[in-house]
Amino acid sequence: MRFNKVLEKIKTYEAGKPIELVVREFGIKPEDVVKLASNENPIGTSSAVKEAIIANADKAHLYPDDSMFELKAALSEKFGVGDENIIIGAGSDQVLEFISRALLNEHESVLMSGVTFAMYEIYARQMGAKIYKTASYEHKYDEFMEAYRMYLPRIVYLCTPNNPTGDATSKEEVLRIIEAVDPLQTLVVVDGAYMEYAAAKDPRYKITPKDLLGYPHVIYLGTFSKAYGLGGMRVGYGIAQSTVIRELYKMRPPFNISTLSLAAAIAACGDDAFVEDSIRLHQQEIKRYEAFAKEKGIAYIDSYTNFITYLFDEGMDSTRIADALLKRGVIIRDLASYGMNAIRITVGTPKQNDTFFKVFNEVTV
Ligand SMILES: *Cc1c(COP(=O)(O)O)cnc(C)c1O
Repeated sequence: MRFNKVLEKIKTYEAGKPIELVVREFGIKPEDVVKLASNENPIGTSSAVKEAIIANADKAHLYPDDSMFELKAALSEKFGVGDENIIIGAGSDQVLEFISRALLNEHESVLMSGVTFAMYEIYARQMGAKIYKTASYEHKYDEFMEAYRMYLPRIVYLCTPNNPTGDATSKEEVLRIIEAVDPLQTLVVVDGAYMEYAAAKDPRYKITPKDLLGYPHVIYLGTFSKAYGLGGMRVGYGIAQSTVIRELYKMRPPFNISTLSLAAAIAACGDDAFVEDSIRLHQQEIKRYEAFAKEKGIAYIDSYTNFITYLFDEGMDSTRIADALLKRGVIIRDLASYGMNAIRITVGTPKQNDTFFKVFNEVTV
């Protein structure tokens, strides 16, 4: 069978390893596996969300409301934008896919930071577009502008806070980049998958969809998968001027969000207390990861997200450490495939973090 030539250059996205794999391969009991690999909310899902899912179970035979009226109304209210400014995706990943398909082809290119969310590149390659990355993993204005002028990309990705590094770009710096690009040539995608954590840490890093709605060439992406605890329900959103949203809608398959996922996301919008509690626990627990790293002489990136990235020197090998942790039932993310001798650890519950520290000590003696 012959497939599209562009597929030759695509590496399949490697998702965080599931608990089931560790159970199968290493014979560890599921309850003993500690999964700190995919930046899920360690507390779980709010009880309001669980109730909403159960209450909608008897609608499973009906197609969902394809207008997504209620979820859009909830998001409109939350962010102070119109429903014509919103598109909902099966995860913000699906919105990224719509954007790539709407703007890219083999004559176009995309620009992103040196180490960032892997899907930007994968979707761009699917369209045959060229990929340009800046030298730094941080979003540096000068590096972005130099590359921008050289390549005139169709899409500029600003992932703030950035995954898998955890650093963030200030609102001032993001606006500076947005204002320096040509609004007729380029769409700037501001991916705020972890924005709730950055906003709670330092107001200078807080960017809301409304802050960007005045720009015709910008889209803000958010997700329910991280702070809201709905990774398994697959709901994300894009917010932009209606001229952008209208085009992205042409890429959307019908009924792309299930009835239960819609119900879950609507309930999550009404439960800010759950997100606030999650962030409070996170802020307390991440301090332990910082203290642990300092104690062990390990460098780390100051995090604006729900994970922390440890940077190793030559004496430690990220792949070896990740494998050793995995064999003992602790799943974290090795960043070797991003060209970094580093690991990314989702900050878990106090108990999960205790296990991480204990097992990390065992495998690094
Ligand atoms: C998790 C994540 C997303 C999207 O997640 P979905 O589950 O598809 O909503 C988007 N961008 C970044 C940077 C992420 O880490």
